[in-house]
Amino acid sequence: MSLEQKRILATSIPGPISVQMQERRKQVVSAGVGTTLPVFIDRAHGAILKDVDGNQFIDMGSGIGVVTIGHTNEKVVAAVQEQVAKLTHTLFTVAPYEPYVRVAELITKHAPGNFAKKAAFFNSGAEAVENAVKIARKATGRTEIAVFDHAYHGRTNLTMSMNFKAHPYGTGFGPLAGSVHHTPMSYPFRDSEGLTGEEAATRAITYLEKRVGAGQLAAVFIEPIQGEGGFIVPAPGFLRTLSAWCRANGIVMVADEVQSGIARTGKWFASEWEEGFEPDLITVAKGIAGGMPLSGVVGRAEIMDAAHAGGLGGTFGGSPTAVAAGVAVLEQIEEGGWLERALEIGELLTSKLTALQAQYPIIGDVRGKGAMIAIEFVEAGTKTPNSKAVEELVKHCHSNGVLILNAGTYNNVIRFLPPLAITNELLEDALEVLAAGLAKL
Ligand SMILES: *Cc1c(COP(=O)(O)O)cnc(C)c1O
Repeated sequence: MSLEQKRILATSIPGPISVQMQERRKQVVSAGVGTTLPVFIDRAHGAILKDVDGNQFIDMGSGIGVVTIGHTNEKVVAAVQEQVAKLTHTLFTVAPYEPYVRVAELITKHAPGNFAKKAAFFNSGAEAVENAVKIARKATGRTEIAVFDHAYHGRTNLTMSMNFKAHPYGTGFGPLAGSVHHTPMSYPFRDSEGLTGEEAATRAITYLEKRVGAGQLAAVFIEPIQGEGGFIVPAPGFLRTLSAWCRANGIVMVADEVQSGIARTGKWFASEWEEGFEPDLITVAKGIAGGMPLSGVVGRAEIMDAAHAGGLGGTFGGSPTAVAAGVAVLEQIEEGGWLERALEIGELLTSKLTALQAQYPIIGDVRGKGAMIAIEFVEAGTKTPNSKAVEELVKHCHSNGVLILNAGTYNNVIRFLPPLAITNELLEDALEVLAAGLAKL
């Protein structure tokens, strides 16, 4: 399936057919399930989404970092089509199938760390995080979990309590799980001037030692680049210092790479950007299977093997079609070109956004790695979060055929995580729409 890689405005946004469908949806779909852009998408390819009214949107969000390889990537489509006609389900823990093993071979080979690794597969990012908690607890015989300010880990009961923001993720949904400890993050744009990564790590470590006790902690969970938090890149030295402390204290260091992993940042995993940072376990999901629901935990073999047989699993986890898609994605990344493309996209985005920052003082910060770049908005001349500007820019971009996503604890961040299949022309077009929106503010 192909689709002209071009932004097209055929009707007003949302168009009449989308408006009708939205009415039907309101009758039968829970109000708890929100929508960023109320147009109904009919098909997609590369970096273009086509709606039911014939409008074509430039996708600058990849469904939150999922279709990193591009919408309807030919090899992913072929792998799923072939698999779906052959075998859709046995449950791997009842009777196995080869693609599950193949995707485990690929992910253990490319995950960082010079040690033997194993993997297990699930359905969602939250489920991967929950399983990493189970594995770390079993491996250490300890119960307590540390997480960071501005973190996001999912929407299940345990992961709700691991998120930084109560609203909208947890409000009214309690009681939440206990034994989760929130710890100060390194946030260079908002930390006091000159605070180093090592100093920020010491602040977190001291906090955990006093509040919890190193000997109580099963695991420390961190997103090496925070996703929902607004693409916060901790200061250099932060991750390395934390993981050295974890190792010295028998704590399992878990990198939640559900958003930052799988070629997004120009490396297989964002963890690799920090020299000396050695996570024991990594959680993956979003970008791993080109849109099919697949998640996993990968890491040190002896930790992954700590769980008893029957302790890990789930009916649909690592289903045949999902792992077939995962194999098609990981083999393409292995073939080459994708990491380089993520870096090119990062350079283009950073140079254009930095130029806009020089022109518009409400852009306080441009940050990120590879094709995971964000801009944080402030009141000009201050660091006061400016969520109003983001709200208006998002609206402007959406009504002009560019799907951008906001983020951030203060809702004052626009994040760019386009499919790596995007062309430079589309990227430039999207940024021109954004620039026109900035000029209008
Ligand atoms: C999206 C996300 C999750 C949750 O993934 P789901 O598939 O939505 O459950 C967990 N961690 C991070 C870092 C994420 O970005």
